[in-house]
Amino acid sequence: MQIDVKMHQADLHQQFAEFGRAVARNAALHDRERSFDRAAWDAISKAGLWRIPVPIEEGGLGGSWADCAAAMEGVASTAGDLGFLITMLGHVGSLRVLLEDGTARQKARWLPQIMAGQVGITAMTEASGGSDLARMSVSAREADGRLSLRGEKVHITNAPIAASGLVAGRMPALGAKKDITLFFLDLDAPGVTIGEREDNLGIRTSPTANLLFEDTPIEDDNIIGPPGDGLRILYRIIAFERALYGIMTAGLIEDMIERTMSRVEARMAFGRPLADYQYVQGRITDMKMAAVICRTMTCSSMAKLENGAQDMSIACSVTKFLAGEKLLEAAEHMVQLHGHLGYMNNDISRYLRDAVGMRIAGGTSDIQRINIFNQIRAQRRSLSAQGKGPEPRLTDVEPGGGHSDRMPLSASAPLPGIVYA
Ligand SMILES: Cc1cc2nc3c(=O)[nH]c(=O)nc-3n(C[C@H](O)[C@H](O)[C@H](O)COP(=O)(O)OP(=O)(O)OC[C@H]3O[C@@H](n4cnc5c(N)ncnc54)[C@H](O)[C@@H]3O)c2cc1C
Repeated sequence: MQIDVKMHQADLHQQFAEFGRAVARNAALHDRERSFDRAAWDAISKAGLWRIPVPIEEGGLGGSWADCAAAMEGVASTAGDLGFLITMLGHVGSLRVLLEDGTARQKARWLPQIMAGQVGITAMTEASGGSDLARMSVSAREADGRLSLRGEKVHITNAPIAASGLVAGRMPALGAKKDITLFFLDLDAPGVTIGEREDNLGIRTSPTANLLFEDTPIEDDNIIGPPGDGLRILYRIIAFERALYGIMTAGLIEDMIERTMSRVEARMAFGRPLADYQYVQGRITDMKMAAVICRTMTCSSMAKLENGAQDMSIACSVTKFLAGEKLLEAAEHMVQLHGHLGYMNNDISRYLRDAVGMRIAGGTSDIQRINIFNQIRAQRRSLSAQGKGPEPRLTDVEPGGGHSDRMPLSASAPLPGIVYA
């Protein structure tokens, strides 16, 4: 397994790190104003980041997803702004789903604009709960021979700035537990209303809002993959995004280390720089270990996704879990090592505010634990069914009302026990 960037990926990393520096220059301003750095986004898009994983015959650069991840890590390593990175993650799901599951017509319609940097969304959460996707109720129903979508998504990254993207919903006519379907929609389509930009604690440079659908027309081109097969596709997209959280975190923490090192090398206490003290060094080394772990986990998870490894879901959940937890720990170290300077409402404490949101966005840490446990259980049951593992014991039976068992698995879902994300 290759877990280090290849030479050309190192070049991509370096090239896009330059764009990250432009993000960093205005991050505090955009945080204050809850605004999105469109100029930096356009520059990154123009430089071709979103074309990297797209085949040449489809207008891309013919690279791999690992190449794309290396470029994204480059941005992360200098941007000093989790919000900008979360916007990138919200966007990249639309690109991936079009490439992997889009028809030729869907690619022709939406790929050029997504590659050019018209922002995309990945909309799953509803007011009924983001963890428990089984309660999703946005639905496409037929009336007068036409399908139309009704319902509301909440807290959707990029909704106020996006042009189109992926929306998970149902087609109730397909029958209960077989109806989860993915839609790809233009956000200026009839019946789509974008809600107020939310006033969040952190990640404020990445706008979130609700999306209301009131009889939004659904044509064939708006349906991604076979109707009713949405869960299987969604699972892959979610897993891919979880994998990327690690490398975004790694890049961000490396940048935090740089900033913190500058401070502890310069700040004197008891006649010596803070950096000379072992407790201080311990915090910095914890940050470094976190960056290394998160980066390695992304590389490993992406390789598993590529190869369809049986434990890919566990790897992706571990990556997202560690990314969320380790970023928060690193942000705390950074604030602590800056003393009162770090506690003021400024560019240092912003990292801490942002990091709290990272444990929620993309599926909470507890939901990652649940996924990991469910995968362990599913693997054991599968081995047992093949006569290769221990028989389930009485204690293996889940008590009633278990969260994971409520997931409405479609007939073709790859593994039981997948919980959102
Ligand atoms: C910055 C940000 C950006 C976001 N962007 C998007 C986006 O682009 N698209 C999108 O679809 N959603 C997005 N979300 C929403 C996010 O996915 C949800 O907030 C998240 O999945 C949690 O859902 P919830 O807020 O409804 O919390 P709930 O599901 O109500 O959960 C509340 C708490 O209960 C815990 N919990 C729930 N079930 C269990 C259980 N069985 N056992 C133990 N603990 C449990 C959760 O871990 C959580 O801590 C975003 C959120 C944030 C913060």
